[in-house]
Amino acid sequence: MSNQAQSSSGLTRRTLLKAGSAAAGAVALGGCLSSDDGTDSGGADVSKAFGNCWMCSHNCGQEVTVVDGSVVNITGVDGHPRGSAGPGTEGTLCPKGLGQQDKTHDPKRIKEPHIRKNGELQKVSWEEAFEFTADRLVSFADEYGEETLLDATSWAETPIFSTVWRELYGTPERISRGIHVCAGPTFVTGGMMGVGSNNRVPDYQNSDYIIAWGRNQLNSFAGQFEAKGTLEAIENRGATLVTIDPQHTITAEKSDKWLPIEPRTDGALALAMANVIIEEDLYDQEFVENYTHGFDAYKEAAADMPPEDAAEITGIPAEDIREVARGFAEAAPRAGISVWTGTAQMGNGWKATQNITALNGLVGNIDRPGGLRLWEYASTASFGEVCEMDYTNRAQFKEPAITKYEEYSDYPVRHITDIAHNLVPEMVDNGHINGIVVHHDDPLKDGNAEEWVRAIEEMALVISIDAYWNGVSRNADVVLPEATSLEKDTLGTGNWSAYPNHKWVTGGKAAVDPQWNTKPDFDILTGIASAMAEKTDNDDWRIFEQWDSHEDFIDDQLSTLDLTLEELSSGEKNYELVEEYDYEKWKDNDNFVFRFDLDQVGSFAQAAEEAGMSTAPEWIPPGTYGDSTSDEYPLEFYDVRSVFFSHGSNQPQERLQDHFAKRNDLNEEDYRGNYLHINPEDAEARGIETGDMVTVESKTGSGELMAHVTENARPGFVTAEYGFGETSATPDGEGMNTMTLHDKQMDPITGQVDRHIAVDVKPEGGD
Ligand code: SF4
Repeated sequence: MSNQAQSSSGLTRRTLLKAGSAAAGAVALGGCLSSDDGTDSGGADVSKAFGNCWMCSHNCGQEVTVVDGSVVNITGVDGHPRGSAGPGTEGTLCPKGLGQQDKTHDPKRIKEPHIRKNGELQKVSWEEAFEFTADRLVSFADEYGEETLLDATSWAETPIFSTVWRELYGTPERISRGIHVCAGPTFVTGGMMGVGSNNRVPDYQNSDYIIAWGRNQLNSFAGQFEAKGTLEAIENRGATLVTIDPQHTITAEKSDKWLPIEPRTDGALALAMANVIIEEDLYDQEFVENYTHGFDAYKEAAADMPPEDAAEITGIPAEDIREVARGFAEAAPRAGISVWTGTAQMGNGWKATQNITALNGLVGNIDRPGGLRLWEYASTASFGEVCEMDYTNRAQFKEPAITKYEEYSDYPVRHITDIAHNLVPEMVDNGHINGIVVHHDDPLKDGNAEEWVRAIEEMALVISIDAYWNGVSRNADVVLPEATSLEKDTLGTGNWSAYPNHKWVTGGKAAVDPQWNTKPDFDILTGIASAMAEKTDNDDWRIFEQWDSHEDFIDDQLSTLDLTLEELSSGEKNYELVEEYDYEKWKDNDNFVFRFDLDQVGSFAQAAEEAGMSTAPEWIPPGTYGDSTSDEYPLEFYDVRSVFFSHGSNQPQERLQDHFAKRNDLNEEDYRGNYLHINPEDAEARGIETGDMVTVESKTGSGELMAHVTENARPGFVTAEYGFGETSATPDGEGMNTMTLHDKQMDPITGQVDRHIAVDVKPEGGD
């Protein structure tokens, strides 16, 4: 391991735990706070509020200090389920979460509602915007059919988005960000195998052996409990951390062992580990015999992959494979695999994640302390439960185009769920999608960007609900400027958290009024509904009139827990642990079965058969689906997330960009885009040094990035962070939309966008 790799971050447990409060302190107005600690506020109007961070939709708790209407400080909430390591530990916010402060007061935000008149976007009042939206929705339904409007409202914290677009308006069409853009193979295989589609995170604090498989969980996580829980396990239990990743990440740096795997060969490594565990009788025979299905088929696949064969495929020495397999099995059931996007976003991702998930069943770590916890949600009341009006679900009478039309029969994905992201441009060409409503998302960053740009331009109606101008909002017919999470009431319930034995709920009130002329999403949706009620004489649209405010609606949802938002957020914290639950719940569930082989799942088995895959664990080499490297494009490119940026929507914040440049030792450079991380061997062969501008080219497109030469990238593998360049909130800034390199490749079962692309890299202007 290089010195550069060792020193690239300097992250320690304390620096991580303290990062939130230190950075927050740096932006506070020193000395003029506050009234409750006895300090003279100098006559200023000082207030505090609790809220939840939605910058990555994982709602870490936040305490906000406001002076004269401006947010001056933001910190975490101690003990918070998502923002701390559990009881008695400090709650913080990650750099992106802290960025909410800048975002809220950012003059680059969309400040007014806009509608397109005579080809131009023009500022209008909210009333005019709602009326225009309703008019266009009515005429769109008459001309094209409401079923051809695509619902692209991802990661919404207000559960009425699907009520408005699906049930009231009547579109059955949705692009599912989770299944097709984030980690479809992990979600789908988890659900089919019996451990749930959303139970993929280990019980970190209680684990003795954690494998971060294709995940940089100390830098790109789902709430900070993940990073903190992992570090707690190392510190308190002496847990072993292993990272399997082509890139030497911050997580690899903190690991006992880094396995720099050849990209897209994870499925072979998982089968080889199973080979060792079965051969050496290290598996949980009692669990396998009594609670699983398809072990014989799994055993056969594992027998075909001895570690020596896997070493050839993966580049990981056979003795390392044996060591990790034994360590994992011997620590079980206090052993967990953290698998998510890294192994999912590739053409053979479905099978790779099945092979990896199978290891959990093999060692019997299912829902046991330190293993793969089957997390549970708190039972707040659903929309249907709190709605006192009957209404018609109009979408249920419409057949989605993906299954209705023969054109899509070649896509096995039609059997799974929703429209695959990469199919949308083709469906626009075929006239089966004619409009879109997008909330807080940039689909132009998540798959064949050029085709998506064209599709957005061709659509008859584009509605954007967002805080920033981007590739969608700039091309929209209606732009509805959304409040940030500091400007609205929030309610969050989650499953995985720092409390493996408790369901929990978290909530808070708006810290400041919406800045400029913006509105919370709840108010935007109810405004559209009221306008639709006037235009259509359909009283179903009046269902939101039963709530005076979002807080009323939240209180109704909390009624099952005998709580109100006021009670939840008026004390020293903004969360409640509401119900305790045990491990090994499957022991009381007669229907539980852990499936190694998915042949029991009818529709899934059909999709697999059409794709020519076995339903059992199986090794599928890279290139069977998706791109292959070649003499012309010899490097494997993969775009990645960073804790500084996510969802392609936060990069305009200069402070985050500065931090990010510093993290990469490039803060002296006059460049604030994403970087091309390349191994010294590959860089030298091309005459490239750190700080050089380079051209990255695939068979589909090209773009320019600044090079960061680092041994953190294995030879033959290059990466860049996504979310920058063309179509972003700063399209004229530095950086590149990495999806301009992309050519529609996807996992054939789930439709997940495959982000592995064959490229070459040349010095700028070179040939
Ligand atoms: S992990 Fe960071 S961005 Fe995500 S909710 Fe927590 S503080 Fe916000």
